[in-house]
Amino acid sequence: MDNKTSEKGSEICPKCGSSLGEVFETKSGKKLQRCSKGSWNPETHTIDGCTYVKWLEVEPVTLDEKCPKCGAPLISAVTRFGKKMKKCSTATWDPATKTAGGCDYIEWVKGTTEQLDEDCPKCQAKLVLFTTAAGKKLKKCSTATWDAATKTAGGCDYVEWLRS
Ligand SMILES: [Zn+2]
Ligand SMILES: [Zn+2]
Ligand SMILES: [Zn+2]
Repeated sequence: MDNKTSEKGSEICPKCGSSLGEVFETKSGKKLQRCSKGSWNPETHTIDGCTYVKWLEVEPVTLDEKCPKCGAPLISAVTRFGKKMKKCSTATWDPATKTAGGCDYIEWVKGTTEQLDEDCPKCQAKLVLFTTAAGKKLKKCSTATWDAATKTAGGCDYVEWLRS
């Protein structure tokens, strides 16, 4: 995984003094560590046991790409809402004055599309596997189109969400 993994178990829960569990990555790319005495109960949507959760900063990853505006390296970042973007490594944010400094280049990372060898049950065209920027996967018809200008979908509307 990454260098955070090597730190697992070395930290102590400030609530109950047990060791913290493994670093866990949410579907939206955020990282957290739960107390080893606590576990998420998907049925009741609550934490059983110790409720301590430590959110980890997702360190920006420097990319092997150059900013088209100023030539500095780009870094990849994840917003609070799980959207991925690339931004210029010279960009700064001053929380005191709420002003952005440095280069303002931002590129939103869209999902990726993969050709599948499967036929659409609706129209028999080929399906494609689409992975959203947040990591969700869906199969959709390769004839499906999206017109960003008019915000309308065209082509075949077959969609199958995959469980991850
Ligand atoms: Zn605890
Ligand atoms: Zn730049
Ligand atoms: Zn179709």
